[in-house]
Amino acid sequence: MSLLNRLVVATLPFVPKPIVGAVARRYIAGVTLEEAVVQIRSLNSRGFVATTDLLGEYITRLEEAGANEKLIESIFQTIGRHRLLSTASVKLSQLGLLLDTEACYRNVRSIVVLAESLGNRLTIDMEDSSTVDATWDIYYRLRSEGLTNVGMVSQAYLRRAEPDIRTMISRGGGEIRLCKGIYVEPESIAFKSREDVRNNFSRLLDVMFDGGCRVGIATHDDVLVDKAYGSIARHGLKPNEYEFQMLLGVQEGLRNTILSTGHSLRVYVPFGEHWYAYSVRRLRENPQIAGYVFKAMFSRPA
Ligand SMILES: Cc1cc2nc3c(=O)[nH]c(=O)nc-3n(C[C@H](O)[C@H](O)[C@H](O)COP(=O)(O)OP(=O)(O)OC[C@H]3O[C@@H](n4cnc5c(N)ncnc54)[C@H](O)[C@@H]3O)c2cc1C
Repeated sequence: MSLLNRLVVATLPFVPKPIVGAVARRYIAGVTLEEAVVQIRSLNSRGFVATTDLLGEYITRLEEAGANEKLIESIFQTIGRHRLLSTASVKLSQLGLLLDTEACYRNVRSIVVLAESLGNRLTIDMEDSSTVDATWDIYYRLRSEGLTNVGMVSQAYLRRAEPDIRTMISRGGGEIRLCKGIYVEPESIAFKSREDVRNNFSRLLDVMFDGGCRVGIATHDDVLVDKAYGSIARHGLKPNEYEFQMLLGVQEGLRNTILSTGHSLRVYVPFGEHWYAYSVRRLRENPQIAGYVFKAMFSRPA
């Protein structure tokens, strides 16, 4: 990343919220579920599937967890009513993971049971390293109750990712999204260099395919996409046995190329009132961030 971009990233907390909002609009479907429905319908009409994400993670009261549970259930009901091709994704901290593990379990279980009754699936996003053990515990508990319509996420920057995947495979495998990982983690537990993370990503993808997992290959990195094509071919997989995944508003050219070459592609569609933290994370990863922010600051409002 250029010096100017790094400077803009460092000063993002001081950039006025409306400017962040203007620049980040491409990454968010909107504030309401209705806006997300419009976005998903448009994606579906162009051949993409989706996963819907209610924004907002760290909460301070269990009542908020209960409210989020109801909102996520209404996402599944809405998807069903509109016959959209979309699953949903959730962060367990939204459902109370850091406040009361049992309450969180009850909340996520209720969502997964409803999703199952509607023939749909939930993916549990992976958050920072302090939550990884508890997230896997909840996943295995759901599976032990026969709830198999739930998927997990593995972060390739984590040194523990491979043992975690091997454990998952030894316990029956399943559906898993592979991504690089977004949180800032210490070197003792995480690979830090771009090349180390890339190498681990490609290795993990092979381990997952070898173990029979259905993988969501979640990256916008064209080097990793090329390597994934090779791995898919080596394993002789059919398009319904894996999928690519990308975030709304990122690398749309690559997204279209992947789809047009016969692969399935799921777009992660975030929406909700709590768009700010997610927007800042996306802007930090945008190599053109300085240009976007300056353009928004100096262009006249429409
Ligand atoms: C569907 C999906 C779900 C995810 N779920 C999780 C999760 O549960 N937990 C977690 O920790 N992380 C999650 N992530 C985020 C992920 O870990 C990475 O932080 C993120 O995808 C960036 O990594 P990358 O592989 O795209 O590589 P990068 O090297 O970051 O990006 C590759 C290229 O894509 C372009 N690009 C990337 N981001 C942007 C952007 N914001 N704007 C414009 N261009 C951009 C740039 O050209 C860049 O060079 C998810 C990502 C996806 C796609």
